[in-house]
Amino acid sequence: MNAHKAAPLHLDAVVVGTGFGGMYMLHRLRGRGLTVKAFETGKDVGGTWYWNRYPGARCDVESVEYQYGFSAEIARDWTWSERYACQPEIMKYADYVAKRLDLRKDIQFNTRVTSAIYDEASQRWTVETDQGDVVIAQFCIMATGCLSASRVPDFEGRDTFAGDTYHTGNWPHEGVDFTGKRVAVIGTGSSGVQSIPIIAAQAERLFVFQRTPNFSLPALNGPMDPAYVEDMRENFMAARARARATNSGSFMQANDQSVFDVDEEERRRNFEMRWEKGGFAFVTSYKDVMNKLEANKLASEFVRNKIRQVVDDPKVADLLTPTNHPLGTKRLCLDTNYYQTYNLPHVSLVDIADRPIERITSAGVVVAGEEYKVDAIVFATGFDAMTGALLRIDIRGKGGLTLQEKWEGGPRTYLGLAVSGFPNLFTITGPGSPSVLVNVIIAVEQHSDWIMDCIDHMRANGLSVIEAETDAEDRWVDHVNEKADETLYPMADSWYVGANVPGKPRVFMPYVGGFANYDNICKDVAANGYRGFSLA
Ligand SMILES: Cc1cc2nc3c(=O)[nH]c(=O)nc-3n(C[C@H](O)[C@H](O)[C@H](O)COP(=O)(O)OP(=O)(O)OC[C@H]3O[C@@H](n4cnc5c(N)ncnc54)[C@H](O)[C@@H]3O)c2cc1C
Repeated sequence: MNAHKAAPLHLDAVVVGTGFGGMYMLHRLRGRGLTVKAFETGKDVGGTWYWNRYPGARCDVESVEYQYGFSAEIARDWTWSERYACQPEIMKYADYVAKRLDLRKDIQFNTRVTSAIYDEASQRWTVETDQGDVVIAQFCIMATGCLSASRVPDFEGRDTFAGDTYHTGNWPHEGVDFTGKRVAVIGTGSSGVQSIPIIAAQAERLFVFQRTPNFSLPALNGPMDPAYVEDMRENFMAARARARATNSGSFMQANDQSVFDVDEEERRRNFEMRWEKGGFAFVTSYKDVMNKLEANKLASEFVRNKIRQVVDDPKVADLLTPTNHPLGTKRLCLDTNYYQTYNLPHVSLVDIADRPIERITSAGVVVAGEEYKVDAIVFATGFDAMTGALLRIDIRGKGGLTLQEKWEGGPRTYLGLAVSGFPNLFTITGPGSPSVLVNVIIAVEQHSDWIMDCIDHMRANGLSVIEAETDAEDRWVDHVNEKADETLYPMADSWYVGANVPGKPRVFMPYVGGFANYDNICKDVAANGYRGFSLA
């Protein structure tokens, strides 16, 4: 229930959420002289990195790329220590940026936005929070994150467990010491894959409950090469500009040969060479890995062999080897010693693919009638991705239409930026935009810049309302689906299609058509009088 309501505050814009998206949007709006306030549920900036403090949490886009690119000074004055920065270092970076831009003075922390309601007569949004704030603003910008609504499946008996429970996406700030403990980890997506080796190093006994094995590639993390650090200090902005002009949006050199352009020996050498580099470079070994099943099969089989080579017990290796989806169609993981962990005598893999968890008892987890007794349970069960954080807010557009009603059959947006029926509401990395399929930092920058340009355009032309047209939205949704259907992505039961949330409509949510293509479409829409939007 809301706290006592304060007198309304009148502003130009409200930003909801202060991860990297909200931080940059706030900076842009303020820089243009708009009155703006941001609300954030957490106690500080950083978003994903504020919440996901589990052991082993780190980015899997290289640190040098996983940073803002809008300011040469901000980039030059920051030095990453590892190829893939750990969560505490990324939080330090968020703090560094917040201080540099003096962001915190316009952010209200510990405050969850509960509703955003549009009034057609005044053309204003009324935004309310769980602290009793009421803000009336022309623009409402949702920077609520694609992976911020953590979820725990509704296991029977979940609340009866007598030990400690944790969710990787809402980890205690003081950390957790598993030394001498018997621990269950449920889930083997990215968070599970990153945390399991570290929890295993502490725990006396570890049971990992796996529904679907995921492909994980070696991160080969390590200290930054000083020569590369120096090179990037000089050349980062140019490298970022080049990356933004590619469809992967990344510094990686994609190979535009087909798997079938080369013979088996050459292919094996190239796969091996990319494997040895570590990171996601392997997926760009050949241009058809993500859109031709036969090509993907060759890459998948290469990775499967690597897993079999590492894991001693052939039965465990089989369980860990993904066979029900093509490589990369579920979010790929990067790991440090993930598969090796299963060779440790105190680590057991419990297959729950065909025999789901029956229930949780006061003493542990029951599968197929067997109770695995543990002191702690770690839920690495992921998020209600892409739509969860938005749908947890009571958002009402024209005619009182709720976003829940509008998206009953799955999310519908124009460009992933706007929703027809919800004027002057923008969604940073909304469904229908590249978001989680690219380096999310470039995605949030591109969206924030586009929104800022759009507001500038409106102000320069005396316009007060922008709304996506239903036709344009319908065409965009079709286009997003067509692009997805050209790839192998829809073949997997992934969180990209909402498969991890029972009852969630199955729609491929991110835009798979490539970052540069998408950016060009957005620019073209703007250059053509905001084609597909009605402005008044
Ligand atoms: C463990 C993990 C690792 C990741 N690694 C990478 C990576 O290597 N590379 C990459 O590109 N992406 C990665 N991601 C994706 C990551 O989410 C993005 O990179 C990026 O941090 C998202 O920034 P954001 O601002 O859009 O959202 P978030 O960082 O999720 O921030 C959204 C904020 O909004 C707040 N919020 C939500 N609802 C409300 C509300 N109603 N009221 C007030 N506040 C609200 C949340 O508390 C949160 O702080 C990772 C995600 C996870 C979970």
